[in-house]
Amino acid sequence: MAQVVVAAGAAQMGSMVLPSQGSTRDIVTASQSPNCRGVRVQVLWPQFSRNKFLGEGLELSARSRLSTQLRLTKIYAKVVTIPIELEEATEPPINLFKPKEPYTATIKSNQKIVGPKAPGETCHIVIDHGGNVPYWEGQSYGVIPPGENPKKPGMPNTVRLYSIASTRYGDDFDGKTASLCVRRAVYYDPETGKEDPAKKGICSNFLCDSKPGDKVLITGPSGKVMLLPEDDQKACHIMVATGTGIAPYRGYLRRMFMENVPTFKFEGLAWLFLGVANTDSLLYNEEFISYQKQYPKNFRYDIALSREQLNKKGGKMYVQDKIEEYSEEIFKLLDGGAHIYFCGLKGMMPGIQDTLKRVAEERGESWDQKLLKLKKNKQWHVEVY
Ligand code: FAD
Repeated sequence: MAQVVVAAGAAQMGSMVLPSQGSTRDIVTASQSPNCRGVRVQVLWPQFSRNKFLGEGLELSARSRLSTQLRLTKIYAKVVTIPIELEEATEPPINLFKPKEPYTATIKSNQKIVGPKAPGETCHIVIDHGGNVPYWEGQSYGVIPPGENPKKPGMPNTVRLYSIASTRYGDDFDGKTASLCVRRAVYYDPETGKEDPAKKGICSNFLCDSKPGDKVLITGPSGKVMLLPEDDQKACHIMVATGTGIAPYRGYLRRMFMENVPTFKFEGLAWLFLGVANTDSLLYNEEFISYQKQYPKNFRYDIALSREQLNKKGGKMYVQDKIEEYSEEIFKLLDGGAHIYFCGLKGMMPGIQDTLKRVAEERGESWDQKLLKLKKNKQWHVEVY
């Protein structure tokens, strides 16, 4: 029998320690209880060093099928009940905190999430808002970096927006955190090719350098364009991202496949196209692969690695080349009412639009008219920066 320890004073949260040789059945049983919305599993490897915690191994939800990976010698699991009152509002929260009176949040964790061969650095930053700055999937937070605005001496820095990469429950499922996926903006002198630290991005460097416990001024939440339409739980959602544009989709996909939200039981198709430079630059790849394994009928995942793969013309593989490869299916899905989302750097849109236009013309359709219709039907969602 597993020893079950309930955290003092935390009615919503329980934790249990399984003994060595413990089976995973206790976690399964706990995860299937009606109140359970997620299980966070931390893995201890006593054989290497006594009770050394080597990081959070796996996150399961009441919807996850258990994998054999869980047959480990010792597992610490937290069974968390999602604060379901976050489902009750009928309208998304908007601008609860404004630049003149921002909320002072705390950095909970900051982790570099790209490998050594990725060009540039991207961090997953968890911000503790204490439940005071609720948001919906697809919204953004504003961040006011500390210091003086270099363009207006004596004035504070201006707000920078960041798409939220978690669901409204946050990565800990308790509704008290929001996660950001931030790429460090660096500046290379075009003549010397050398990095110029004086011209580095102010806010992204502040966030990527932040440490747990640091304070961060946040505003928002803001944005309605990228909210996940939940009226039809059988809908199709085609998500196109370059780099950190993945952030809102990570939130959508956790809501669809990781959390067990009584008001949103996704039964449609989510199709993610992610474009990054190389394998080391892939973001949240393990999460997506696990959804692919668990929900092969509901989740498709295609990646374009511009520095590793070639398109059919022998050029670099960009996300629009993947869209072209599947254009027949994509156009059919759009005709059937699918939503299509684009998020990432502004520069991604012209190439994608040209591809969609060319494909439409090859099919004897007018892209301009099709686009108008998609916009009118609220199927077209773009957030680029
Ligand atoms: P800034 O200080 O604003 O500088 C901007 C750029 O100018 C930098 O590349 C910097 O190196 C360069 N620069 C600075 N000084 C000079 C100079 N003298 N000469 C030439 N160049 C100079 N970003 C993410 O990483 N993740 C997200 O999820 C995300 N979501 C967003 C969502 C929305 C809706 C929007 C609008 C933007 C989003 N962004 C996101 C972008 C983000 O808001 C910032 O623009 C980005 O992080 C750069 O901000 P910064 O303060 O670091 O750079």
